[in-house]
Amino acid sequence: MIPITVVDVRDAESLVVEVLRSGAIAQGPMVHRFEAAFAQVAGTRHAIAVNSGTTALVAALEVLDLHSADEVVTSPFTSVATLNAILEAGATVRFADVRAEDFTLDTDSTAAAIGARSKVLMPVHLFGQAANMSKLTSLAEAHDLHLVEDAAQAVGATFEGRRVGGYGLGCFSLYATKNVTTAEGGVITTDDDELADRLRLLRNQGMRVRHQYEVAGHNYRMTDLHAALGIPQLDKLDTNSAVRAHNARRLSIGLAGTPGLSTPLALPGREHVWHQYTVRVGPHAMLSRDELAAALTERGIGNGIYYPRLVFDYDCYRDHPLIPDASAEALPVATTLTREVLSLPVHPALTESDVDVVVATVRELLGA
Ligand SMILES: *Cc1c(COP(=O)(O)O)cnc(C)c1O
Repeated sequence: MIPITVVDVRDAESLVVEVLRSGAIAQGPMVHRFEAAFAQVAGTRHAIAVNSGTTALVAALEVLDLHSADEVVTSPFTSVATLNAILEAGATVRFADVRAEDFTLDTDSTAAAIGARSKVLMPVHLFGQAANMSKLTSLAEAHDLHLVEDAAQAVGATFEGRRVGGYGLGCFSLYATKNVTTAEGGVITTDDDELADRLRLLRNQGMRVRHQYEVAGHNYRMTDLHAALGIPQLDKLDTNSAVRAHNARRLSIGLAGTPGLSTPLALPGREHVWHQYTVRVGPHAMLSRDELAAALTERGIGNGIYYPRLVFDYDCYRDHPLIPDASAEALPVATTLTREVLSLPVHPALTESDVDVVVATVRELLGA
């Protein structure tokens, strides 16, 4: 069995034991240590640790003081957390289409989706590759929009040498299967001192000094136990990203020329951290995407479909007042991707021979 993901936090044992012995297990010195290390990795002045990637997104939107008529423009090809965070923050959602070559926001479609009520542009750096931040930053500036980056899958990724999460408010997830994990957790990054201060208040019930509440806040705090898991993860991030890139390269070389299959691109000027290695199974492949997924599972090769439907295409979002005018017809590329994408194992625990097995099995199943 070759799993789609492997979680390895064994090297956190001594730090976790240190927290256990201290008796101070909630937010404390270990969270501060983790935040300092994360800010270093993201290249930002501030990193505010919270209890999930979803709450990172909610808090980032909340400090921008949005009203329900204010719109957040984002991708329909993403985790449901992106959508749920916008709804939780009480803003209206507008979707723009994505590009098949990098699975992230198409800048022409994004420009067309921006309207008079748009206040936030929220690109999703999907599968570990940055969205086109030079064009999206220009669009945000031209239309006076705040940039909130859903960087949940892209810790360490860069665009033109600059790390994601440093363009606007950066929101990261530390969920168990993400490239850096604390079991559950999230981080917001920013260079803005005032926003950082307000985010720290929001995280802790709006409180700066005991019993002094300055805003109606939340409990979004991370615990020292969780932070202890994350510190060794940050230490080995660059090594792990290099192994992921090595595995991705070997997969793409091995799978080249497989009929009906497209391998993912690492676009020039972007450092891809390969959270997922996602191929597309086109209409002319010998098996459909779903057939290939089932056959791989049967052969013991883990795989995943991210994402099988447009994010809003579920009954619970039908006719939602904060999701007006969302339609698959207006999002043809994202719609096609939901039918074609399949993620294969790329994680750093793969051996060279695991990669060879994945390649040989996919090639055989697709008649290469
Ligand atoms: C994982 C993820 C999130 C949410 O993070 P949680 O830590 O699970 O709350 C948000 N957006 C994307 C794109 C994700 O992959």
